[in-house]
Amino acid sequence: MDELLDAGPGTGFAETDEYLAALRERLTVPRDTDYMLLGENLPADAADARARMRAFVDAKVLPVINGYWERAEFPWELLPHLAATGLVGGVIKGHGAAGLSRLAAGLATAELARGDGSVNTFLGVQANLTMGTINLLGSQEQKDRWLPGMVRLEKVGAFALTEPRHGSDSAHLETTARREGDSWVINGAKRWIGNGSMAHLVVIWARDEADGEVKAFVMEREDPRDPKSLPAGFSARTIDGKVGKRAILQADLAFDNLRVPDANRLPEANSFRDTSRVLATTRGGASWEALGHGIACFEAAVAYTEIREQFGQPVANYQLVQATLASMLSELTAMQLLCFRTAELQEAGTWSGTMASIAKMHTSNKARTIAQQARDLLGGNGLLLDFHVARHLTDMEVVHTYEGTEFVQSLLIGRKVTGKSAF
Ligand SMILES: Cc1cc2nc3c(=O)[nH]c(=O)nc-3n(C[C@H](O)[C@H](O)[C@H](O)COP(=O)(O)OP(=O)(O)OC[C@H]3O[C@@H](n4cnc5c(N)ncnc54)[C@H](O)[C@@H]3O)c2cc1C
Repeated sequence: MDELLDAGPGTGFAETDEYLAALRERLTVPRDTDYMLLGENLPADAADARARMRAFVDAKVLPVINGYWERAEFPWELLPHLAATGLVGGVIKGHGAAGLSRLAAGLATAELARGDGSVNTFLGVQANLTMGTINLLGSQEQKDRWLPGMVRLEKVGAFALTEPRHGSDSAHLETTARREGDSWVINGAKRWIGNGSMAHLVVIWARDEADGEVKAFVMEREDPRDPKSLPAGFSARTIDGKVGKRAILQADLAFDNLRVPDANRLPEANSFRDTSRVLATTRGGASWEALGHGIACFEAAVAYTEIREQFGQPVANYQLVQATLASMLSELTAMQLLCFRTAELQEAGTWSGTMASIAKMHTSNKARTIAQQARDLLGGNGLLLDFHVARHLTDMEVVHTYEGTEFVQSLLIGRKVTGKSAF
């Protein structure tokens, strides 16, 4: 049956293909949507970071990413080019890391997400979650040991917090760590861990059997692609069938008396409050990420509706389409304002967990809607990977869920507003 449907491939489709190529051609060209002029007088470092990430996205990511996404394969070929941007490590200073301002780091994140969510999540797991934890909670010796190789992307990191039974309530995690001489013996399971099956360094959050507090341990592997380098007691299994962010691999991890040397325990991670300090910073990154997805979808919708004609005119000429574009733009602009303010507050040291929740909740909610609206405005083509918006739409579902779902952000904000914890 399939053969019959494909009969005569390549004949008679020249006109169709030419027309579709013309529709697709302009969809990924940035329009620098910025109606509140936030990008005017950008500091040179922020403008430079954005330009460098944009060049990487346009030249290296966009031409190949749909194929990797469809095959659910990690694009290893991009790592040397990503390292060459000089932007890995974000705001971390020293160890060869970029040492960016918050604004520069945020703009670079939005720019990468404008291209692709999977690569952006890879970098977020590597730099913000894993390097960020080591930088915030590790000793000087540990930072010197691990961060330089991670900046060069020679060492891939993973951040293992979520468990099969504990997602939103990860504070209740059940993985245990028991001190035995110079080692810790870890038992338990983790789920959804980005880079988990391919990481050289895995930050494992586990509860100390002695005092019941949550602590962090770094498990090392020489070569994740060599099964012989698997530490005894560690197993990783890639999660199949994921319909968003398909080009980054998530894994189930299992620890069966895994031994980690005491030298690999992060000394400043002494309770779940320390985990929360890491998560408060990464939620800022998730907001810029949502902004990047929103920009990609809005700009694709404008470009497409300008050239797609129905009933004798470009569909952008119709009032209903313009109303949709106007609604998308007004939400996008509010997201931009929130993200720029996030960077200012972070730089000033007055950023709080509630602010992080407000920004994450608003931006992911709005970007999710913008992605749906763009998908609609592209008609049937909005369902095709070739037209990019479908990828952003499903990738935004992931942003909506990780770093705290919308409900969880509401509960955190509600507790602050009312003084009553509803969870
Ligand atoms: C693609 C992807 C990548 C990820 N990467 C990582 C990673 O690298 N490392 C890591 O540690 N984790 C990672 N995660 C895990 C992620 O952080 C969790 O999925 C997230 O915290 C939500 O947990 P859950 O999926 O178990 O959903 P659940 O917590 O089971 O939530 C299910 C539903 O219940 C709602 N809910 C939960 N509690 C309440 C409540 N009290 N009141 C009202 N509603 C509630 C939620 O909002 C949601 O709608 C990743 C997840 C995904 C999908």
